[in-house]
Amino acid sequence: MAVSSIRVAIDGYSSTGKSTLAKALANRLGFLYVDTGAMYRAVALYLIENGLTLDQLTGVLDQIKVDFDPDQQIRLNGRVVASEIRHMEVNQIVSQVAKISEVRKKLVEQQQGFTQSVVMDGRDIGTVVFPDAQLKIFMTAKPEVRAQRRFAELQVTHPEVAFEEVLENLKMRDFEDENRSVDPLKKAEDAMVLDNSDLSPEEQLNWVITQLQDRNLV
Ligand code: C5P
Repeated sequence: MAVSSIRVAIDGYSSTGKSTLAKALANRLGFLYVDTGAMYRAVALYLIENGLTLDQLTGVLDQIKVDFDPDQQIRLNGRVVASEIRHMEVNQIVSQVAKISEVRKKLVEQQQGFTQSVVMDGRDIGTVVFPDAQLKIFMTAKPEVRAQRRFAELQVTHPEVAFEEVLENLKMRDFEDENRSVDPLKKAEDAMVLDNSDLSPEEQLNWVITQLQDRNLV
């Protein structure tokens, strides 16, 4: 009998630490880690670098190749863009790019092509990409806690960015993600909610491992 692969879907609000948890979990389990937000960010970066408007994007989708190198670093047309996609300019536009149904169709199809055991994080993994995932987690935390985390990260590369700007951008992205017509951010009915406002990364990892053990998946 074929052993089926295990899929862990991690969705939730911006800056809830989805990728930190997903990466640690994938490492612990020896699964592939896929950051789908990085894929939307890479498409947004293409738009910025080529001076395109949102309306022009659909017409050039064929020219945009987004993938990961062997170290799971995001690539845009063969170039590693892991740091560029974190810039504030990309933060500002990415939710608009992620609203375009043709963009979503292209990236969702690509995401569904990962057939090995995988931990995937994003906004629509448990609802659209892998509705049959064996474990679905929906992450949330207080907006101020999330903004503080992102602000601390940005201090290294963008010390000029104010806390209020980070908080506003985060609330704007939550709003856009929850209210778009295509694949909005929504908790899957069978997802477990993880509010990590007061949890350390280690505590979160242990919590997920317990969920997997309870389901006899590890
Ligand atoms: O996860 P991250 O914050 O890097 O994602 C950037 C943006 O990409 C999100 O604000 C959201 O608009 C979009 N996104 C999405 N669907 C996903 C992953 C990300 O719409 N599966």
